[in-house]
Amino acid sequence: MSSKPKLAVSACLLGKKVRYNGDAAEFRVLNRVWSEHLELIGVCPEVGIGMGVPRPTIRLVKGEERISLVNPKNGEDFTDKMLEYSEIQSDYLMSVGISGFVFKKDSPSCGLERVKVYRGDNPQAVRDGVGMFAKVFTTLYPHIPVIEEGRLTDPLQAEHFLARVHFFSEWQTIGEEGWTAQKIMQFHAEHKLFLLSRAPDVKRTLGRIIAQGFDNDEHPESVALKYMTEAQKGLSVLTKRGRIAHAMERVVGKLPNMTKQDKKEIVEVIHQFRKGLLPRSAAMILLSHHINRNDANNPIHKNFIAPIPMNMGLMARV
Ligand code: SF4
Repeated sequence: MSSKPKLAVSACLLGKKVRYNGDAAEFRVLNRVWSEHLELIGVCPEVGIGMGVPRPTIRLVKGEERISLVNPKNGEDFTDKMLEYSEIQSDYLMSVGISGFVFKKDSPSCGLERVKVYRGDNPQAVRDGVGMFAKVFTTLYPHIPVIEEGRLTDPLQAEHFLARVHFFSEWQTIGEEGWTAQKIMQFHAEHKLFLLSRAPDVKRTLGRIIAQGFDNDEHPESVALKYMTEAQKGLSVLTKRGRIAHAMERVVGKLPNMTKQDKKEIVEVIHQFRKGLLPRSAAMILLSHHINRNDANNPIHKNFIAPIPMNMGLMARV
């Protein structure tokens, strides 16, 4: 069995010829780089509801009571089929243990944001919708990290999304045999630097969720789910260089046995990273060198330094 985290992806992005016109919309980095580190699971909701390839184009149409998914040429309505399929497929994906989802932008089924929605006979659409499948998935499972492929062309967004996926995957692995209060507290403690560097306000909220949950005698499974839902909500906002640099300085401050010269050197490299003169990888490699010499087995540092595999090349571009 594969130990790579599983990532669901709109199937056309993986090069599958499942679009309405029989084409694919391959987003190459997924097949070429990401597939080495993640198990990619392709999903095409429109094929899933039996529309076949090629097929007529469909669109979101706002009615009085709900938004529907229809074929504008003949008015055929796919809403109920899509809603039913979406629930079943979302539950299935959760049961196989996905840790994230990359959706195809602009699609009336898969788009996550700014999808065209038509009103009545008006030929002008308003870009304020969410694809029907994506809407059901994110409503049912708000604790799963999601993104559109368009955002992944920005290395900062790609790196941050992958870090969220790995954070989630670890939470999933630890909780596989059931959550206990001890496990939740340990997970939080071991990810405190990671959270500090990416979503410092949420780190405090998460501490409160844990404390209140146990004060109120909540079941650990429920506390763990609330924890991850809130964590991913906070992590959905991109982090800043300054936050990462601040967390790096905290690590330097706590490492034992550093000479004055070592400290001076590394603080200077972090400073250059903060100013955008050096990539994150330069500071991280130097920092991990000192961590390995001084405090190698501390998971707090590992989770902060290597939230995603360094050989994906993203750290050198952010
Ligand atoms: S965007 Fe979604 S529904 Fe459309 S072809 Fe790609 S996977 Fe299928």
